[in-house]
Amino acid sequence: MAPPPNPLPPPKSNQNYVGVSAIEGGIITLPDEAFVSPSNPWDKRSVPSLAFLIEHPGSTMFSRGGVGNSSPYVMFDLGLRKDIEGYLPPQQAHLDNRIPYRLGPGVASKLEDYELDPGDIDAVILSHVHYDHHGDPEDFDQSLFLVGPGSKGVLKYGCKGAGSHQCFDPSLLPQDRTVEFPGVGPEYEDPDGTLLPDDSRRQWYWRPVGPFPAGIDLFGDRSVYVINAPGHLPGHINLLCRTGPNKWLYLAGDTCHDVRILNGEKEIGTWKDERGRELCIHIDPETAKKSINRIRKLQDLCRESGQQLEFAHVESIYLAPQTGILTSVLGSKILIDCSTIDTAHPVWSARDIQ
Ligand SMILES: [Zn+2]
Repeated sequence: MAPPPNPLPPPKSNQNYVGVSAIEGGIITLPDEAFVSPSNPWDKRSVPSLAFLIEHPGSTMFSRGGVGNSSPYVMFDLGLRKDIEGYLPPQQAHLDNRIPYRLGPGVASKLEDYELDPGDIDAVILSHVHYDHHGDPEDFDQSLFLVGPGSKGVLKYGCKGAGSHQCFDPSLLPQDRTVEFPGVGPEYEDPDGTLLPDDSRRQWYWRPVGPFPAGIDLFGDRSVYVINAPGHLPGHINLLCRTGPNKWLYLAGDTCHDVRILNGEKEIGTWKDERGRELCIHIDPETAKKSINRIRKLQDLCRESGQQLEFAHVESIYLAPQTGILTSVLGSKILIDCSTIDTAHPVWSARDIQ
């Protein structure tokens, strides 16, 4: 029998907690059959592409020569781009498979709701570089961009997946402000730490965190862990955020697209392209299953340790039912964010997307 996973890290004395807010970064419509099996070929759902605003109470981790905020703001993902013209032609063609969709007004402008502007964002962490997560990096022209190991290679050289969603813009991220977290494994561990654009270094090392074999203590204070979540796309990372005493928020990126996969009701879906090749939304489905299993273990761990576990659907948490305006504070919940297909939302039925 496998040994039980490590417990989640205990709090430090004077533990810092982060505030996390969800921002809707546009809406796309997804066919169930590309994500879950079994499925009905006619079932589609319109879902938000989410960005998350994370506020740390105080750290110099991202201060830029003394210019950064003393209470850093970090974005995790930026949703969809605000304009179709911002996408490469093949990406625009792929979006034709996602109608109806709504791009814009863009995550940067929505920061006004928090009395912030993009200049206030110290760092943007991308879970991965797919078109529905990277948003408009150009709007964050002072922020440091942090991506998982291998992401730069995906942007530059593409990857082996042949689906129309596997198209990447080599000039997406600013070269002089983009840093990859180190590779996972002792061979990538630099005792001097990770070099940032201002020539300073950060001690970011992958270590086991709860059920996850590799996580980085981002601020060095156990408040936010970057989690290695392989299988979906090279460089895919998640965030485990400590939002209060015994309260965690797991931002899962594209690790698990549908809650029915997490609870065992469905399997990961596959589909055939026009040439009869079998495709999957995950570049490595077997490895993706292992990452999903670790989220299941996180659920078990929270349950067994007597922590409050709230498991809920995306829209019931993030979106007000009438207006589509997002609720702003998620801090009191332990959530697994299955941020793509939300089964609380009915199968698509002429929903207004404007
Ligand atoms: Zn993706």
